[in-house]
Amino acid sequence: MRLADLHLHSHFSDGTYSPEELAAQAQRCRLAAIALTDHDSVEGCPGTAVACAAKEIEFIPGTELTAEQDGNELHLLGYFIDTQNPSLLRRLARFQAVRQDRIHEMVARLNRLKVPLSAEAVFALASCRAPGRPHVARALVQAGLCVNLDEAFERFLKKNRPAWVPKFKMSAAEAVDLIHQAQGVAVLAHPGLNRTDQVIPGMVEAGLDGIECFHTKHSTAPSQHYLALAARFHLLVTGGSDCHGLSKGKPLIGTVKVPYQHVETLKARSAEIKTAALLHSPLMSLPANAVEKP
Ligand code: AMP
Ligand code: ZN
Ligand code: FE
Ligand code: FE
Repeated sequence: MRLADLHLHSHFSDGTYSPEELAAQAQRCRLAAIALTDHDSVEGCPGTAVACAAKEIEFIPGTELTAEQDGNELHLLGYFIDTQNPSLLRRLARFQAVRQDRIHEMVARLNRLKVPLSAEAVFALASCRAPGRPHVARALVQAGLCVNLDEAFERFLKKNRPAWVPKFKMSAAEAVDLIHQAQGVAVLAHPGLNRTDQVIPGMVEAGLDGIECFHTKHSTAPSQHYLALAARFHLLVTGGSDCHGLSKGKPLIGTVKVPYQHVETLKARSAEIKTAALLHSPLMSLPANAVEKP
């Protein structure tokens, strides 16, 4: 059976794999298709597309956006997005700037706690445009200031811990809109992890296309629960490992896989979204007599 892992991070956000390593790992796991879903970034997509093509693995360009609804953080996956879309790139550049400012703020808070970490050490380690708390945690471990990532999060970086800095977040409806503007398919990521069932009806109203039912942090019961919700709201189903490479020990790629039929469904939805965008494009809305005849 052909299988796909539709939730992967690379070193263009907080994963450790390069595009080439991702493709090699996907081949090792015998995956027919993979999606790259870096936080607030699409930078890794062109390289991963090339690396996958060389191994005859189907590649789906994606991203993972952070949003907030009723005080709850939630993550939105965008699949088959147009990675050149100007409004998407503009918004991502803004989120990336906010992330970089936040690194300086987290480091300043650590320094006030007499933890001698420098922002340069974090940026040197991250070397991507979308740095986050995992990079600060890794820098703390690398500098010998924490024994492991868990300690870094527990002592400093978890919500309401002393070096935690809240991040600007758009609403769930805005995130769905942004993905649709970039002609992507909008999927609620790992709802069992964020426990945000109450936001689903509102997000369906906002145009949500799917739910990530299968995820590393979903055991059988949550997967079944979200499959039932997907059926009830006529949403498509996705799944993936949320692999971050070697950052958390063993790589997760290929440990959560969905049948290729879910890729077909995603693709069909993507085609509908792209057709609708074409019909609403300025060229198509011109009156017929405004188009020059040869
Ligand atoms: P950020 O986007 O900068 O707020 O960082 C969020 C990322 O940090 C998540 O995607 C996780 O990969 C990671 N993370 C969050 N909490 C923990 C934790 N307690 N231990 C390890 N990693 C975590
Ligand atoms: Zn992450
Ligand atoms: Fe996530
Ligand atoms: Fe993720």
